[in-house]
Amino acid sequence: MDRSQLKIRPIIGLEIHVQLATRSKMFCACPVEFGAEPNSNVCPVCLGMPGVLPVMNRAALEHAMRTAIALRCQIARFTKWDRKSYYYPDLPKNYQISQYDLPLSFDGAFDVPAANSETRRVGIIRAHLEEDAGKNIHDNPSVTLVDLNRTGTPLLEIVTRPDLASADEAYAFCIELQRLVTYLGVSEGSMQKGQMRFEPNINVAIEYDGREYRTPICEVKNLNSFRAVRDAIAYEIERHINDWMADPGYVIGKSPKENRGWDDVRGVTEFQRGKEEAHDYRYFPDPDLVPVEVDDAWLERLQASVGELPVERQARMESEYGLTSADAATILNDKATADLFEEAAGCGHPPTLGKQFISFWSAKANERRCTIAQLGVDAARLGKLSQITADGLVSATAAASVAGKMLDCADAPSAIAQREGLIQVRDTGQTRAWVDQAFAANEKAVQDALANPKKKQQARGFLTGQVMKISGGKADPKMVGELIGKKLDSMSG
Ligand code: ZN
Ligand code: MN
Repeated sequence: MDRSQLKIRPIIGLEIHVQLATRSKMFCACPVEFGAEPNSNVCPVCLGMPGVLPVMNRAALEHAMRTAIALRCQIARFTKWDRKSYYYPDLPKNYQISQYDLPLSFDGAFDVPAANSETRRVGIIRAHLEEDAGKNIHDNPSVTLVDLNRTGTPLLEIVTRPDLASADEAYAFCIELQRLVTYLGVSEGSMQKGQMRFEPNINVAIEYDGREYRTPICEVKNLNSFRAVRDAIAYEIERHINDWMADPGYVIGKSPKENRGWDDVRGVTEFQRGKEEAHDYRYFPDPDLVPVEVDDAWLERLQASVGELPVERQARMESEYGLTSADAATILNDKATADLFEEAAGCGHPPTLGKQFISFWSAKANERRCTIAQLGVDAARLGKLSQITADGLVSATAAASVAGKMLDCADAPSAIAQREGLIQVRDTGQTRAWVDQAFAANEKAVQDALANPKKKQQARGFLTGQVMKISGGKADPKMVGELIGKKLDSMSG
């Protein structure tokens, strides 16, 4: 069979577990803490001792509901808890408290960036709350250790429709979802801490000789990086095509569903076990927990707290402030920083402010290992600095120096510029003197700017930089550019 005769359409859905950012666990008061001494954050409830009673964490439920609202899900007015039975050393109760037939939310949609700057709408089947299991640790080959600190940590499970059509789309979905949950503040979304885990369901529709064949659905378990999601899906798509070409019986219904594991080092998936069905878990309502009823007032309050989503806000910020999509996305990485930007834009020059956020304000924040919002500079002064830069009172270079001083005092940016002698010089005579000085000191660049067509632009840029340097950042770059042009013209005479 010739592969080029096949028309391939991958069909991909995702199941995602997101750890919610609560102080305490889902059904007990134990702290949720990463990296604590093993088995230190445990109590009779999360250890599954007989006779204990779980109590629902309200913050976890609200985080879950806010995420579901952002995913445009229907919120159930009545939702309940079920026991999902299975036996594993890291699950001392022998069941997980989850939600089965009445999840807290269902029927949503999430738009993610796709190829050719289009978006892909991905249906959300459901999002429900459950508790995490502990961790089996296999570091030592002769023993398995069990750490139950994670047992009972709140997890939001999100299940999408199989609407994704490529490994890249799935990758984009995961990134956009991480952006959403961190923006909403419902999860830290840290991959390193295992706070987002992905399980793609994959099969392939193959059109051949006027007929469509579908390969059996495979689920790749427990992926904990975006790259693993993309690579495992790409691997599976290829494997499905090859397996079908080798065996026409490799189709849905004839071959069983499979669970597979991803080997990150070898870059392959491996068969783990046949996929279990819901009845294998013998779900039944948890008799220890009361159902949750959501009234209008509660739902309205949560809806109001969600507000504009990152993807919508990015589009608005691009058009409202003249930002590039990359710059808007960077500013939006932190909600408080985006809020600060918008407040500062109201009393400043937005496009210049955008450049300053991306350049020196980001750099200052990185130096101090914090966000721009956490630098503590108020919106009015941020706005003002962008305005005096746009007005030409200070150059872009001088603005960076002013910004450095702004961190240490509460003075107005213009006062700092005045005091530090950073007010831009627009005196033609003075600027011409600086240009002459730069020409005298950089003969090679002057020759290139005059005679070397390949290096002309670069040499002119270099000379401009030199003049700015000689002037201590006080020259007006526009005037410098003009004077350099004139001088070169007169020399080439
Ligand atoms: Zn506990
Ligand atoms: Mn689950």
